[in-house]
Amino acid sequence: MRKVHSLAEVDQAMCIGDRICENVCPTGAIRVVKKKAVVDESKCGACLKCVDYCEEGAIRMVPRSQPLFWRVDPSDVDQDQLRGLCTKAHVHLDDVICPCTGTTAGEVGAAILKGATTPEEVSLMTGVRTVCGIYCVSLVQELLRAHGIETTPPKGANWYEVDTSLWNIPEEVIRKYPEYRLEESRRLFLENEE
Ligand code: SF4
Ligand code: SF4
Repeated sequence: MRKVHSLAEVDQAMCIGDRICENVCPTGAIRVVKKKAVVDESKCGACLKCVDYCEEGAIRMVPRSQPLFWRVDPSDVDQDQLRGLCTKAHVHLDDVICPCTGTTAGEVGAAILKGATTPEEVSLMTGVRTVCGIYCVSLVQELLRAHGIETTPPKGANWYEVDTSLWNIPEEVIRKYPEYRLEESRRLFLENEE
């Protein structure tokens, strides 16, 4: 869940249209049109990434007249389907997968079952990925893949390939480092899900 109190505003006179902001925005809220960046207010999660990366200092945050709420209620979807999706992605539905926004795997899973097909769409429904956007990215990917959706990075972005979890470690690495008990961790997760 995310409650958004502010939004990005572009000083058109300072913008040189280099698209840096467009490439770092997690929700597709800022786009360059006719060589100037414009913000879709309904999509801005106030993550500050565009402000941080704009080398021209053309973006600032301004207060919203009304806060924006992004939230999906996991109880709105079929619970067996949701549990199955989370188990397939190797995550418990009550796990908080985005510590910044407190978004759970169940909330992300529910957004996917309700029709989200990209990380951007998941973010716009749940708020996940709209603060640091580091830890949660690979788990959003796992849940999309578990639903049969392969994502491709938007032009200019490269973080879609982030993919590190207990379930993606090569078998030879697991065998080589038994002291980390990776096999045991996998088994325990699966046993607890049964
Ligand atoms: S990063 Fe700054 S200068 Fe570049 S397009 Fe965006 S607002 Fe304009
Ligand atoms: S503040 Fe974040 S969500 Fe809003 S336009 Fe900038 S990068 Fe996109």
